Amino acid sequence: MHLLNEKTSEQYLTHMHKTSAIIKQWLNDNNVYSGGTPQQVQAANSVSIQSQGRDIEAILADIQDKFLPSSVSTAHRRCLAHLHPPTLVIGQIAEMIIAATNQSMDSWNQSPAATYIEKDLIEWLCQLCHFETSDDVQIHTQTDADADNQARHKAGGVFTSGGTQSNLMGLLLARNKFYAAKGINVHKDGMMGQPRGIILCSDQAHFSIEKNAALLGLGIRCVEKVGTDASGAMLVSHLQQKIEEIGADNVMAVIATAGTTDLGAIDPLADIAKMCREHKIWLHVDAAWGGALLLSQRYRHLIDGIQAADSITLDFHKHFFLPISCGAFLLRDQQDFESIRHHSEYLNSSDDEKDNIPNLVTYSLQTTRRFDALKLWMALDLLGTDDYGALIDNCLRTARQAAELVEDHADFVLVHQPIISSVLFYFKPKDTALSDQQLSQLNRQIAQDLLINNIANVATTQYEQHLCLKFTILNPNTQACDINTIIEQMTIAGFNRLQNYEGQPYDATKNA
Ligand SMILES: *Cc1c(COP(=O)(O)O)cnc(C)c1O
Repeated sequence: MHLLNEKTSEQYLTHMHKTSAIIKQWLNDNNVYSGGTPQQVQAANSVSIQSQGRDIEAILADIQDKFLPSSVSTAHRRCLAHLHPPTLVIGQIAEMIIAATNQSMDSWNQSPAATYIEKDLIEWLCQLCHFETSDDVQIHTQTDADADNQARHKAGGVFTSGGTQSNLMGLLLARNKFYAAKGINVHKDGMMGQPRGIILCSDQAHFSIEKNAALLGLGIRCVEKVGTDASGAMLVSHLQQKIEEIGADNVMAVIATAGTTDLGAIDPLADIAKMCREHKIWLHVDAAWGGALLLSQRYRHLIDGIQAADSITLDFHKHFFLPISCGAFLLRDQQDFESIRHHSEYLNSSDDEKDNIPNLVTYSLQTTRRFDALKLWMALDLLGTDDYGALIDNCLRTARQAAELVEDHADFVLVHQPIISSVLFYFKPKDTALSDQQLSQLNRQIAQDLLINNIANVATTQYEQHLCLKFTILNPNTQACDINTIIEQMTIAGFNRLQNYEGQPYDATKNA
């Protein structure tokens, strides 16, 4: 009854169909979010486990009546808060196959076909980034040869749970290589008493850089921030100055970001790469967001230089519209994985390796691992790179239209022109004198009002001294008219709040 077999296969179809029908109904209801206040959501979704199980019909009814209405609908055209996309239906179908087959990527005999599919897809991604993937890699230039004094191996990589994990892998391998160059095997001996290495990233880099530095035993204080220009991109002159101050030998890695979380800023990758190559410093490119431009026809040039990285973070559960989780870590020289190799006879036996049977466990921080690659493969197969790229470009185009609409509105201030597809702005009614603090509170309330009242999901973030509203447009169906609606509703919410201002406590039901 509970496991799928011949007897239950009819029921299987019935329940799967029922589940799809419930989801379809939820989508048709076309709510951004109808769960009400945090208290209401919590009350409706309390977990209670009994000694006796319940009927599946009752459970599905609760999902339909309680869980779904209290969830945000990323598929909604006015759900624009975070790097949190609507998912392609083909990705959802792939998830079903992933769950039903339950392949595990940690050994070939748990994922025979999946292992080869993931390997092929990693190779394809490496090629997309212009990494070398053929067996006999040629040294490109004299500088390359000078830099490592040895032939490069082909590129490699692995699917990960997302950007945080991919960034961790980049720092981990950079750390091991940094100490190896000083004759220290950190993987075996740890770092106790060893000299500190410095990680350089921009002041807009993702917080996972610091978190990962802490996890790796390096400490947050080893992360030093490089200044940024008005667009939020790393200042190469400042990077150079930092490297000179610290001494290139003491720099463990430079992390460049292609698509910062708030501004979507793209660091000057080619210039940074050149500097890293010159000083033999590991360059990791965090392209968790900007990596989507690899498929763009119009904006691919914005991430030129990515091919010169030592390692790259890509995230497919963001601007590639795939269900969470789905990310990849790419490595320019597969040989660098050796510093984290572990043998366990039950997973990656040396006999397997002799027989040329791939065991991906060597390349991953995880042991049991999902076959997330299937989602990307099926999506690419369905759309082809052209249509996939066009979906990505749609979001960038809408962001530019949104910025124009905001800019043209007398009661809003656009703080930044969009680079990828985030738009930062704030409500500032003209002819009204409000302190920065009051403006901040007002803008925060506008975002809350719009969500609680099922109008739109927009984010807030701090930019310089302003609490800003933020659109992150990751829905290819969102159009200028949707943005117009949101702006109108923001104006209404803003002026409503202003009317009964005087520090009234936030009342979510007020504008319902
Ligand atoms: C989202 C993001 C991350 C973190 O990725 P997760 O998939 O959420 O772990 C890292 N870096 C950047 C630039 C991001 O936008």
